[in-house]
Amino acid sequence: MPRTVFVTGASGFIAKHIVLELLKAGNNVRGSVRSPAKADEVRAAMVAHLGAGADLDTRLSLVELDLTSDRGWETALGGVDALVHTASPFPAASPRDENDLIRPAVDGTLRALRAAHAAKIRRVVVTSSVAAIYAKKQVPDVATYDESDWTDPESPAASTYVRSKTLAERAAWDYVDDAGDIALTTINPSLVLGPPLDGHFGTSLDLVRRILSGKDPALPRLGLEIVDVRDIARMHVAALNTPESEGKRVIGSAGFMWLGDMAEFLKSSCPERRITTRQAPNWFIRLFALFDSSVRTIVPVLGKRLVTDNSRARTLFDMSFLPVEDSLRASADYLISRETKD
Ligand code: NDP
Repeated sequence: MPRTVFVTGASGFIAKHIVLELLKAGNNVRGSVRSPAKADEVRAAMVAHLGAGADLDTRLSLVELDLTSDRGWETALGGVDALVHTASPFPAASPRDENDLIRPAVDGTLRALRAAHAAKIRRVVVTSSVAAIYAKKQVPDVATYDESDWTDPESPAASTYVRSKTLAERAAWDYVDDAGDIALTTINPSLVLGPPLDGHFGTSLDLVRRILSGKDPALPRLGLEIVDVRDIARMHVAALNTPESEGKRVIGSAGFMWLGDMAEFLKSSCPERRITTRQAPNWFIRLFALFDSSVRTIVPVLGKRLVTDNSRARTLFDMSFLPVEDSLRASADYLISRETKD
């Protein structure tokens, strides 16, 4: 009998890829969404990628749940074999009230875990982030972090989103420590790029879209780690099939790139576009941050080369990551193809 895996936030950019991978691997999937329209969106994406013969009427079901409400959770997870909890707000900008982001992230994670516990689900995979790993109180110029590192929520580099992911992951580990009978793995991706399955792909590709737009006169000296959405989906499924990953955090990251190098790469791939590669001096970004609070949390990491060690993922899951250039190129190709359609 095929395993049934519950995926929260099935309408998300990453979650749709996870649902697809799970279905391709022969699992049945029950997913949560926030509205009937989102359920239709997920179904349509799966039909588009698996074809009408994939028996989705019996293998894929979708239920409505909200991270901020208790309603429906316990019933929804009844009879399920494993939980993949991906839902969490990932907004383009920090909300005015940080609790609008932190509460759904933390309380939603606890709701999912409590419901899993009540339904006697032993195996749980939670989508965390490198955001829960790299932001230290004192930010060094160069560092390599691994799964033993934790973000300090008081770090000047910790945006509200970074804190939401850190506090949610902490809450998950604390909960399973107490519960005792849940085997948890967290997947901690860096910036996830790559081809979306449909036109609804959250904020993940915003950075590539912004570089492609050429609207910024110069780019900050900011470095980022990148990973492909297809690898992150594969990691979630691999975690479910790898008992050695139980009780572990696993970083998903393919490599580091400066924004300037991303822009250079995109410019060489799309020579017809006016893409800025000019670098803004750090002093200018610091000055700008005095007036724009959204820029403030990048000031402590300007010019810093903060990377993560992905060896645990490569060893545990016997995987190699797609090169960051492939993910960038796939994101750009997708965004450009949409411009011509829109
Ligand atoms: P998306 O915004 O595409 O997906 C987020 C999902 O969470 C959506 O399904 C969204 O539903 C759901 N969600 C948000 N708020 C609520 C709520 N109150 N109740 C129920 N569902 C809610 O983002 P991604 O796919 O990029 O991110 C998925 C996960 O991966 C998140 O946990 C994110 O923090 C993590 N992550 C993402 C990275 C990235 O670069 N993209 C990097 C590292 C981690 P709806 O569709 O209705 O809005």
